[in-house]
Amino acid sequence: MLKKGTLFEKFSKKCYEIENVSSRNMKIRLLSDFLITVFPDEIAIVARFFSNRIFPEYSNLSLDIGGTTVWKVLRSLEGQFSLFEKEKLTIMDVYTYLKKIAETSGQGSRKRKEMLFRSLLSRLSSIEKTYLIRLIFGELRIGVSEGLVLESISNASGIPTDKLRRAYMLLGDIGEIAYKAIVGGYKNIESVSLTLFRPIKPMLAEMAYSIREIFKEHEGKTALEFKYDGIRVQVHKKGEKIKVFTRRLNEITYNVPDIVNVVMDHAREKSLVLDGEIIGIKDGKPIAFQDVIRRIRRQRDFYAYLKNIPLKVYFFDIIYLNGEMIIEKPYIERWNILSMILDEEFLAKRIITDDLREADEFYKKAILNGHEGIIAKKLDSFYEPGKRGKKWLKLKIVDTIDCVILAAEWGHGRRMGWLSDYHLGVYDEDKGRFVMVGKTFKGLTDEEFEEITKKLLSLKIYEEGNIVYVQPKIVVEVAYSEIQRSPKYESGLALRFARITRIRYDKSPYEVTSLRELQERFYNQLKFKSSVDI
Ligand code: AMP
Repeated sequence: MLKKGTLFEKFSKKCYEIENVSSRNMKIRLLSDFLITVFPDEIAIVARFFSNRIFPEYSNLSLDIGGTTVWKVLRSLEGQFSLFEKEKLTIMDVYTYLKKIAETSGQGSRKRKEMLFRSLLSRLSSIEKTYLIRLIFGELRIGVSEGLVLESISNASGIPTDKLRRAYMLLGDIGEIAYKAIVGGYKNIESVSLTLFRPIKPMLAEMAYSIREIFKEHEGKTALEFKYDGIRVQVHKKGEKIKVFTRRLNEITYNVPDIVNVVMDHAREKSLVLDGEIIGIKDGKPIAFQDVIRRIRRQRDFYAYLKNIPLKVYFFDIIYLNGEMIIEKPYIERWNILSMILDEEFLAKRIITDDLREADEFYKKAILNGHEGIIAKKLDSFYEPGKRGKKWLKLKIVDTIDCVILAAEWGHGRRMGWLSDYHLGVYDEDKGRFVMVGKTFKGLTDEEFEEITKKLLSLKIYEEGNIVYVQPKIVVEVAYSEIQRSPKYESGLALRFARITRIRYDKSPYEVTSLRELQERFYNQLKFKSSVDI
């Protein structure tokens, strides 16, 4: 009996076809034709797959299969032929497998995940394997972006892209959008609205490098707010019911009872959605970001943590109020509404200014109070969920040190074939050797990746798994946002958000930053922050 459903092979071949046409319009045509031909219950999956996703964005599911497992399974299947022709898998079969892998948890789950993955791969042909693995690594590499998928859905359904984009901002799942548009039609998309207790993606900020740049971008006048270094939260409230979500749309309500209480006691409106940041405060100073995370994730001794690391919330936006979406009101109006609902102590510190000196003072004040910097918000800007743009600009302190590369990991996805994740070391004068302080693959151009891969391979000492250990010769300048304590590294310290800013061929490895210097910087940084010990 023939199975009902589109074969995964057909999807893979379509990917190959799309990858090999360069015209944007042609890609859209191929995509939309495919979306129309698949069965209705496959539309959402296919739309997600084409957008390099397996599960909806708001879902907590993730595969948790690392590169090492993928290569191991692939290698073990090499040269194995089956005597029998295997039944081909449909798109739904593959999705069901992936879902099962993601849902496998608890003791022994790594082994069980690997077994499922092996069983899945053993049933796929070579072209199917190629695209499945790319999908697992989050990049199909067929030259299709989320925007292009939206255009294809528009082409397939006849619904204008801006309508689809709006609905997508509110639903946060391109799969559901595709299904609603193609099966349900225009009215279905038009009627999409924010649903309380289903979080939407927060608006994001782009990096700025000076106050002057901010004024230029925001045409001379702007709102500046402290940039708190904590956890972005979206709070939904209806009557007595309150839920708190993170920027990745995970629910954390039960971990933050203190924040729930603030909203319950101080935001009296019937229903609302607030956007803000929570940080930990001790002795009047913010505590390090990693301690806030510890507090949030804590399950054992939760109440001891609750007492020792009190959280504070600073709201800076309002998205929804008593049945009305207010994202299409300008920032200044949204702030006015917000400040009528909440007392100043629960709002982000902010000023509105057109004066360079005043702005500079405010920035200094943020840093001296132990915060990360400032965020500038254009006064007439709307709230654009999920969008990173110049309407919001962040200005942070950036520091750099020099590190030597101790090892590198083979990349996957777009960086396949390159050594791309670099283990960074500083010099420990006491021990007379280099010690690791972080890892990064950020900051280099494609040419630099290629060049550095060649250099590193010529310095290779030995290889283990996908890590190549090298002679410590190449020096890089590394920018970071903060130094953290690290039980993982022998050095005891780790760089947060490390990014390579330059390759310093001009420097010898023994000129890199010393561990002592890094420790000094760490203590200096702590002067502005409070430390916690429980
Ligand atoms: P970044 O994580 O460096 O991209 O900076 C953006 C993040 O800063 C946001 O996602 C928030 O979590 C955080 N943040 C802290 N204070 C504010 C603020 N006043 N306005 C907007 N975002 C803020």
